[in-house]
Amino acid sequence: MLQISDLAAGQHYPTGALYVVATPIGNTADITVRALHVLGLVDRIAAEDTRNTAQLLARYGISKPSIAVHEHNERSAAERVIAHLKNGERIACVSDAGTPGISDPGARLVDAVREAGLPVIPLPGASALTTALSAAGAWVAEFSFVGFLPTKSKQRATQLRTLADNPMALVFYEAPHRIVETTRALGEAFGGERQLLIARELTKLHESLHRCTLAEGPAWLEADTNRQRGEFVLVVQGAPEAQDADDAHDALLTTLLEELSVKSAARIAATLTGAPRNALYERALKLAKRDDTAEE
Ligand code: SAM
Repeated sequence: MLQISDLAAGQHYPTGALYVVATPIGNTADITVRALHVLGLVDRIAAEDTRNTAQLLARYGISKPSIAVHEHNERSAAERVIAHLKNGERIACVSDAGTPGISDPGARLVDAVREAGLPVIPLPGASALTTALSAAGAWVAEFSFVGFLPTKSKQRATQLRTLADNPMALVFYEAPHRIVETTRALGEAFGGERQLLIARELTKLHESLHRCTLAEGPAWLEADTNRQRGEFVLVVQGAPEAQDADDAHDALLTTLLEELSVKSAARIAATLTGAPRNALYERALKLAKRDDTAEE
């Protein structure tokens, strides 16, 4: 009988190719048979943190020469990777955890390798994004992945305003020291009624998935400091579909009005949304007046 490892080995793995390999997001057992085969086969590993990756690979009995490819050197490292690929090597790209390129280095390396005319071959596997969504339920059937929000509160609020009318569920990544603040900011931007999934420490010992409303989120986190520890994915229900046509583009107009005149804001909003410019102009005028009154 054919073994699973034979199925992985039976495939053709071209030389001179970059293999983008997902690794576990916590539980070391969450690696695919094909990933192990390819990590064993490649000549070199392009890793976000070479020490971390060496430790992970040691657990699978794999040791390979590595190249550091992180946020700050992705371009120059890509040149070295391409030179090795042109010599006929196979190279795997891995990040510290999960899928490279998803809020992680890897995407620029992929661009550079493809621009050099060399093949890029993805090996699917764990990602905090899909892991959280798989256990979220039907309300996230359509989603937008946002990842990390800006850390400065003003920039964060501006980005959240642009997302407020999005009918799709929104997926965020967040670090433990900002989890309460960010959850509160989500409630301020979207109102307290939407559903929220707080997915913490996925696949790890202290994994927890808690569903509540945006209004309840901060208090739930603050009720026990253990709930604020570890790694987080936040999933927020999308905007309700049935909005008055009148205020459907308020979030966009409000953001544009911070920098532009009523006329320019209406013109750009019309280009972006396809809605009639006159109606947007009237609405922008009202919003601008409302803002003036609030500031008086
Ligand atoms: N590339 C990774 C992926 O595919 O999910 C994401 C890397 S990003 C630098 C790290 C963030 O992903 C964490 O701050 C957290 O928001 C999320 N994350 C990673 N592992 C997680 C886990 N086990 N549970 C919950 N969130 C996790």
